[in-house]
Amino acid sequence: MTDRSDSNCGPRYGQACRVATGWPSRSGVSSRPCRRPNSSRRLGCCGTGRLRPGGCPAARRAVRAAPSSARTACRPSSCATTTAPSPTLPFRPIQVVHAGPVRFVRFRCRIAPIGRAFPAAGRRGADAPDPQAPVASPTVTVLPKAELHLHIEGTLEPEMVFELARRNDVALPYRDIDDLRARYRFADLQSFLDIYYANMAVLRTTRDFHDLAAAYLRRCPEQGVRHAEIFFDPQAHLARGVPMSAVVEGLSGAIGEFPEVSAKLILCFLRDQSADSAEETLRRAEPHLDDIVGVGLDSAEIGHPPSKFATVFAAARKLGLEPVAHAGEEGPPAYVREALDVLGVRRVDHGIRAMEDPDLVARLRRERVPLTVCPLSNVRLGCVPDIAHHPLPAMLAEGLNVSVHSDDPAYFGGYVTANLAALRLSEDQLRLLAANSFESSFVTAQARERYLAEVRAWRP
Ligand SMILES: [Zn+2]
Repeated sequence: MTDRSDSNCGPRYGQACRVATGWPSRSGVSSRPCRRPNSSRRLGCCGTGRLRPGGCPAARRAVRAAPSSARTACRPSSCATTTAPSPTLPFRPIQVVHAGPVRFVRFRCRIAPIGRAFPAAGRRGADAPDPQAPVASPTVTVLPKAELHLHIEGTLEPEMVFELARRNDVALPYRDIDDLRARYRFADLQSFLDIYYANMAVLRTTRDFHDLAAAYLRRCPEQGVRHAEIFFDPQAHLARGVPMSAVVEGLSGAIGEFPEVSAKLILCFLRDQSADSAEETLRRAEPHLDDIVGVGLDSAEIGHPPSKFATVFAAARKLGLEPVAHAGEEGPPAYVREALDVLGVRRVDHGIRAMEDPDLVARLRRERVPLTVCPLSNVRLGCVPDIAHHPLPAMLAEGLNVSVHSDDPAYFGGYVTANLAALRLSEDQLRLLAANSFESSFVTAQARERYLAEVRAWRP
């Protein structure tokens, strides 16, 4: 077992908090340093994927939420005058200061660790919708849409965990499905990681991956999903001795059985593993490139900038694969720039922290860069305090090319319709998000026009 202590996030928070960086861009907010403390967190990684009471913390998302553990309330002082209400902002504006012709708005930063200062971010507060509750919304269900940000391993529902464990003779540390589901109300990051990796270890064979993908694709019609570009993480499976062929052939075999859903696979590199490992993974995937449309970058973001993977992304582009990357979820806006400039990505996954950088927002708007946003995930992992303060409405107001998706729906409280319904959007906003999802997909021009016509014809 290898222990790592690589998530000291002090330097990041020593630079500037979101309050300080002037977000939202159109207000003239002045900069000031954040007073968040440094922190560190020990993360274990056995790399075997074996089920143990502590789970297999291979740390795909380990550092992803670790910085959240360092987040404390940030309250710029020396403000005066009036309160500026704004229901769409993830940080509560607390004061407006008039200084000549410029109006400065100061914000109270309510970023908090999961389940600590702001229970709504991790455990649900009284004013937050229950992300586990089924969302029945005919409006968003029948809206045609493309799912562009979904990790197939994150669709592993509790029932299937038990089914595959029985099939593969894997012992689970849960009494029953209810016991497992109860643990999805994550008290902290480690409880999420333990369950996430423990569950992934039941995926062993081609048939397992087939059944996992088939279960998701079976849901697509009820979700209004016409087209899906599905992430998978081969490194997490290769580490358990599962061959690349079992993963890809299982997933692509299921895709072939659901012609009513157009689906493609995107191979993601785990950014907390080495660049060499990513390059080796791409080499092992080369016999299967007919089944793969692109490459992505996911897992722990902080400390693993996109530039670390410049070489493997260049190689992937040469192979004709479409590049996308997670950036600006927990990482700084600079990571979004790197993803665009160094990796040449066609889409940015999440990208919500880009809103802290007015110049970057202007560029994203000018270049129509697609941003695949996952609201329930952002709430569950503490990236935003609660759904009422999610930045998506502000991103739409900025004219950004955003679309809404589900990330790891079995863990974060719902599939794409639940994510859309949680935001309580207008009909026009829903139509725009659906159109953006098709505009941002890797479908043919002909298919895109057909899907967009469906969106235009949609009536709630
Ligand atoms: Zn993701």
